[in-house]
Amino acid sequence: MAEPGRVIVVGGGLAGLAAADALVSSGIGVTLLEARRSLGGRAASFEDPRGGGLVDACQHVAMGCCTAFRDLCRRAGLSSALRTDRTLWFIGPDGRRSACTPVGWLPAPLHLTPLLLGMRHFSLGERTALALGMVRLARLRAVDPTATAAAWLAGIGQPERVIRLFWQPVLESALGESLDLVGLAAARKVIVDGFLAHSQAADLLVPLVPLGELLGHRLADWLADRDVAIHTERTVTALRFDDRGRARGVITAEGVLEAAAVIVAIPWRAAARLLPEIIPAADERLTGSPITAIHLWFDRDVIDLPHAVLVGRTSQWVFRPDPADAVAEPGYCQVVISASRGLRGADRQQLVDTVVAELADVFPAVRGAVLREARVITDPTAVLSVRPGVDAVRPLATTAVPGLFLAGDWTATGWPSTMEGAVRSGRTAATAACRFLGAPAVGVVPDLPRSWLTRLLAGTAR
Ligand SMILES: Cc1cc2nc3c(=O)[nH]c(=O)nc-3n(C[C@H](O)[C@H](O)[C@H](O)COP(=O)(O)OP(=O)(O)OC[C@H]3O[C@@H](n4cnc5c(N)ncnc54)[C@H](O)[C@@H]3O)c2cc1C
Repeated sequence: MAEPGRVIVVGGGLAGLAAADALVSSGIGVTLLEARRSLGGRAASFEDPRGGGLVDACQHVAMGCCTAFRDLCRRAGLSSALRTDRTLWFIGPDGRRSACTPVGWLPAPLHLTPLLLGMRHFSLGERTALALGMVRLARLRAVDPTATAAAWLAGIGQPERVIRLFWQPVLESALGESLDLVGLAAARKVIVDGFLAHSQAADLLVPLVPLGELLGHRLADWLADRDVAIHTERTVTALRFDDRGRARGVITAEGVLEAAAVIVAIPWRAAARLLPEIIPAADERLTGSPITAIHLWFDRDVIDLPHAVLVGRTSQWVFRPDPADAVAEPGYCQVVISASRGLRGADRQQLVDTVVAELADVFPAVRGAVLREARVITDPTAVLSVRPGVDAVRPLATTAVPGLFLAGDWTATGWPSTMEGAVRSGRTAATAACRFLGAPAVGVVPDLPRSWLTRLLAGTAR
């Protein structure tokens, strides 16, 4: 039971899984403890009530700029389970479709020119205003830590339509928080690293298999094959410290587990309960933002695009299963609404009706189809709300307690609360734990290199 040479990782979400990978890669034994029955944390799936296999509770996508997530997938042999969509499909308020494709042969950020020009729902003046807005955001060197994205965009005179039909859907879906609440620094990061930095930065990476399969089985099996001892349904209730105050293990209902160090990779509320002296539980700047997924099962396939951003509507994104997915139920699609605070308390049937009516507006096949089943799932604290000033309270991986390290998408990664942020946090915590134990550390995965033109525009600082 007690293996003092090992590191215990608490939490089997992407942060914990990435930490476990980085530790075993450094030759350190790992025991991973997860409270739930399966791994993957918030990147989870449920059983299709119609018998169509696993369905993601909410569609997750990554971007080309997510280098740590991509690196983990590559090394675990999961890259082929991710589809790369170079073309972003926008559908304007008038139903017009815009296929926005960056071009690889132009130096970034000029690769975005066709993407911007491709937005048919904008006039030439609006496209120019948008491009200039992006440039101004990139050129900001001293970002006001108290400014929100909405206030800044209004302050520089971005047209209302450009804010509502570009900045709002793009930033809200990337950051999971509404434009009037997100900090300017987080918005700048999305635009610079997610769009301007590199010609592949804005690629959309869409899992081809459910997250429960991708992370809960394939990634977990890969780690288990590398001797990570994984225990699910094992809730850690307290940490164990030695008489010098060092973290030396954990306590679960099954008993005490000793370790050389502990990485706590659980969400901030759970971490505040487990480590009340270390996590600022009462700090109201650490707060969650909701995301809602509306699952729709029609009697036939109705969505003829791999994905679409529906701008100026309640529905924000729609996804359909990959045509190559033999298991997915035909006729299934999912609508995602980020920062869905405004829907709280809304009538569920009314929301489904609104979303179906919006889809019918832009996908004619919906009009002749029968909706067989609908399910609405809201995670009220889906992601950390990246409000102005939040970075000042996101904790570092290294704590004041020797042998205790923190990971999770909410820690100080410099990234929004995403799969990429979670993976980075896990690697960073593992690197700190390796240093503590005197073992060689794997270090961090480099970002996509910024083009010379982007460096000129946005500088090199992240
Ligand atoms: C609806 C929704 C949509 C999202 N969409 C996207 C997206 O499109 N792209 C993207 O990049 N990100 C998205 N995210 C965010 C992404 O899911 C998270 O950033 C990421 O999964 C967080 O990983 P984590 O390991 O930090 O935390 P979690 O995934 O929360 O994992 C923490 C784990 O710790 C376990 N745990 C908690 N307490 C204990 C304990 N005491 N003992 C043992 N185990 C414990 C939990 O059960 C959980 O499994 C979305 C999130 C949600 C909810």
